[in-house]
Amino acid sequence: MSVDIQSVGVVGAGQMGNGIAHVFALAGYDVTITDISEEALNDAITTIEKNLSRQVSRDKITEAEMKAAMSRIVTTLKLTDLGSHDLIIEAATERETVKNAIFEDLIPHLKPHTILTSNTSSISITRLASRTDRPEKFMGFHFMNPVPVMQLVELIRGIATDAETYQSLLAVVEKLGKTAASAEDFPAFIVNRILMPMINEAVYTLYEGVGNVRSIDESMKLGANHPMGPLELADFIGLDTCLAIMNVLHDGLADTKYRPCPLLTKYVEAGWLGLKTQRGFYDYRGDVPVPTR
Ligand code: NAD
Repeated sequence: MSVDIQSVGVVGAGQMGNGIAHVFALAGYDVTITDISEEALNDAITTIEKNLSRQVSRDKITEAEMKAAMSRIVTTLKLTDLGSHDLIIEAATERETVKNAIFEDLIPHLKPHTILTSNTSSISITRLASRTDRPEKFMGFHFMNPVPVMQLVELIRGIATDAETYQSLLAVVEKLGKTAASAEDFPAFIVNRILMPMINEAVYTLYEGVGNVRSIDESMKLGANHPMGPLELADFIGLDTCLAIMNVLHDGLADTKYRPCPLLTKYVEAGWLGLKTQRGFYDYRGDVPVPTR
C-alpha cells in the first residue's frame, strides 16, 4: 500500500526549492516552503509567480491554474510548521551537516507515516537515512534544474528504503507528469556522476589554458551539440554545488580522476558562485553575460 500524499513540505527556498514548490502546487498538492532566510522565501514566491506567468503567456497553463497553484503555497521561517505534511523534500544547501541538522530538528514533529526525502545531488542516501528515525521511509528525490522544465526525476533508494515508500514516490512523479529514473545509492547517482566530471574537465581545460570561457562553451555547443556550454551550465547549477558534488565523488570513490579543479575551488572561495551571485565563469551584472576569463 502506498502512502496517500496530499501535502508537501519543502525545506530550502533556493533555486531548487522554489522549482519543486512550483511543480507540486501546479499538480494540486498543498505546499509549505521553509528557509532560514526570509529574503529567500520572498524571492521564491516572486520567482514562482514569474515562472507561472511565463507558462500562462505560453499557453502551457491557464490563468485559473496559476491562481490555484499560488493559493496552495505558504511560506514559513519555522521548520516545525512542516510537521503535519505527508511528504518532506529537503532542498537546502549541499552540505551534509546542514541536512542532518534539518532532519534532527524536524523528526520530533513528524507524523509516523510521513516520507522524508532529500534532493541532494550527491550525498549518500543511506547515510542521511541512518541518522533519522525512519530509514525505511527515506529516499533520494532528485529533481533537475530548472524543475518546471526538466522532465527527469532520479529516485534513489537507500539500503533500508521499503517498497511502499518507493511506490509512493513513483506515483507522485507520475502525478507531476514527470519521468522517474531509478539510480543506486552511489556517489552522485547517475546524472551527476556523468555530468559533473565533464564540467570539472571543462574547468581544467580553462585552468590549463587550452581554451578560454567562450571557446570552451562554443566548442561543446557547436561541436557536441550540447544546448548549453559546460561553464555556462556550471554557473547555472551553482559553482558551490558543483564543487560539493566533485568532493563527494572524490571522497566517496577515492579515485584521483574526480579531483576538483583548483580553479573551481578558487571561484567558490571568491564567492563567485555563478548566476545566483551574478558572477561565476561569466559576469551577469550587465545586459549580456561577459566571460570572466
Ligand atoms: P541554493 O543555494 O539556491 O538554495 C539553498 C537554500 O537553502 C538557500 O535559500 C538557503 O538559505 C537554504 N538553507 C540553508 N540552510 C538551511 C536550513 N538549515 N534550513 C532551511 N533552509 C536552509 O541551492 P540549490 O541549487 O537550490 O540546491 C539545493 C539542493 O538541491 C542541494 O542539495 C543541491 O545539491 C540540490 N540540487 C541542485 C541542483 C542545481 O542545479 N542547483 C540540481 C539538483 C539538485
